[in-house]
Amino acid sequence: MRLLQRLILLLLAIVLPWASARAERSPGDKLKVVATIPDLVDLVREVGGERVEVSTIARGKENLHNVIARPSHLVALSKADALVQIGLSLETAYIPGLLEGCGNPQVWPGGKGFINCSDGWEAIQVPVVLSRQGGDLHPQGNPHMNLDPRAGRHCVKRICDGLSKLAPEWQAEFEARRDAYLAKLEAPEKRWAALGEQFKGRKFVEYHQEYNYFAQHYGLALVANLEVKPGIPPTPNHLAEVIEKMKAEQCDVIVTALWSKNDFVQRVAEATGAKVVELPNMCGGIAGTDTWIEMMDVLHERLAKAFGIPLPEKPAPEAQKPTQKP
Ligand SMILES: [Zn+2]
Repeated sequence: MRLLQRLILLLLAIVLPWASARAERSPGDKLKVVATIPDLVDLVREVGGERVEVSTIARGKENLHNVIARPSHLVALSKADALVQIGLSLETAYIPGLLEGCGNPQVWPGGKGFINCSDGWEAIQVPVVLSRQGGDLHPQGNPHMNLDPRAGRHCVKRICDGLSKLAPEWQAEFEARRDAYLAKLEAPEKRWAALGEQFKGRKFVEYHQEYNYFAQHYGLALVANLEVKPGIPPTPNHLAEVIEKMKAEQCDVIVTALWSKNDFVQRVAEATGAKVVELPNMCGGIAGTDTWIEMMDVLHERLAKAFGIPLPEKPAPEAQKPTQKP
């Protein structure tokens, strides 16, 4: 199946540059946007509203370093006005190949329609020396910035700038929508900060280096990673060390994403008696995480529950309130 898909991709890559010369956008046409992850689809919709049509490449349950490029992605990129990505090498497995094959220089790095959301973001865990032996999935530092509680604020600004460059006639509209979203973030940010205060110093282990921005933001204590390095699977020796460390430090929470809830995690959980908590790593993988705000809510709430932190009572929606009887 993968071979067939690769052959189709190869054929399209030969044909598309000749066949698809992207028609110039007429004023008033919607902007066609391809986003690499569903979180960015949500944020592009927030800024672009009715002015954009946006699709995603990665789906919510995938390992972000192992997203499979499909012919439909190549076709979407060949017609796109903009590509919105996280950057920091998060999309290295599939974006360079898709860009090369799509025949649409507008969405190439440096092109008018290339929007890189990590521009201006300070990456953590930037390697001092790059070595293949050290794992090469995070060569520019940790790319999972969409899981930082400040990422929504950062990304909508990059998206607003990028869309405004493409369609200056709608700039005021994009800026108003961006500002409305920034205001909408204030209430959830207060909710998250209240839980986050109680995260400080709590110990956890994670499978892949995915939740490090989140952990750093709140002062959570990361005890160990089950992967030896990003992309290098656990070895028996490494797992034995992790188990010993967890016991010594009385760490009883293991964090995974959907893709990484595997036998290694299970083995460590059994050996230590730790809880396994499955967290979203992007929108859409877990029920109730369609928007970035919802995804962050679920992330905070699941982690709070794992640490035994009580959740504040949610006000009941109006419709669900019992009717007052006279
Ligand atoms: Zn990663």
